[in-house]
Amino acid sequence: MRAEDKDTRGPRWRAILEARWRDRLQEVIELSGAYYAATAEPAGGIEDRRARRLLRQAVVARQRLADTEAALTRLATGGFGRCEQCATPIVPVLLAAAPETRYCTRCGTAEIAPGNGHKERAAPPRLVPAQRIPAGRP
Ligand SMILES: [Zn+2]
Repeated sequence: MRAEDKDTRGPRWRAILEARWRDRLQEVIELSGAYYAATAEPAGGIEDRRARRLLRQAVVARQRLADTEAALTRLATGGFGRCEQCATPIVPVLLAAAPETRYCTRCGTAEIAPGNGHKERAAPPRLVPAQRIPAGRP
């Protein structure tokens, strides 16, 4: 085992990710329930806006839940804590802020402009818990 992997294995991260998974699942359940309750009410301008807002929030919450599930999968398969693009260890401060992070600080900024080399990436790293896979990647 590489020295930098020691902190990204074992029960500590599993406990953190499972707690986040439970919180996010609860959020999805609550938002979905609120959305269906809102749509069951008689149609009206304010209610329609509220239902649309709840739906958007539910979609975001479901994506965040999926991101946490993906991180749990990486933890089980050994890829957790390493950049999915270049395999560099993800800096601990970024991982602590967002355990679902898939990319290192360099590759993470590539989401703005997929295909750029590291040298062209000038943007600062983003602390985004729910990072998306850039377009065109498997
Ligand atoms: Zn990387």
